[in-house]
Amino acid sequence: MSDTDPFWKTKRLAEMTRAEWESLCDGCGRCCLHKLRYEDTASLAYTNVACRLLDLDTCRCSDYANRRRRVPDCVQLTPRVLREIDWLPPSCAYRRLAAGKDLAWWHPLVSGDPETVHEAGISVRGRAVGEKRAGPLDHHIVEWPGSVPRTRRPPRKETAP
Ligand code: SF4
Ligand code: SF4
Repeated sequence: MSDTDPFWKTKRLAEMTRAEWESLCDGCGRCCLHKLRYEDTASLAYTNVACRLLDLDTCRCSDYANRRRRVPDCVQLTPRVLREIDWLPPSCAYRRLAAGKDLAWWHPLVSGDPETVHEAGISVRGRAVGEKRAGPLDHHIVEWPGSVPRTRRPPRKETAP
């Protein structure tokens, strides 16, 4: 570790500033998909049905400041909450860091480009449906939010000297 390492490599999650913590979200929108929990087995199923406040194009919450009032079961992530929940997708930056992993190449903090989370097939763009249109959740069970596609960092573009 060096003095030039970025904050997510030098600080524990509980030590981060609010701004650092918020910047860890890669904007994938996967945690804003509805999930089903089966009572008999307690197992979890992801659906491709998005919370009504999720912008299906940007994959960001359309009213982040007021989300807890408008969607009472929206969960505010904190270091403590991270230890208590099991439904964050494996690609989630918070889950990765909590497990001792680094951020992936597609993360905007690494790539410097908010589009890479979409280009890498991590975000929900193009494959989520809004809850008003969806109908019964159990018609929308999908596995992809629970997996991480194998994606390679695209080669750097040559630039003229
Ligand atoms: S899954 Fe994690 S990284 Fe993706 S939007 Fe939710 S909090 Fe952000
Ligand atoms: S209220 Fe916003 S942050 Fe919360 S689940 Fe819905 S879209 Fe996501």
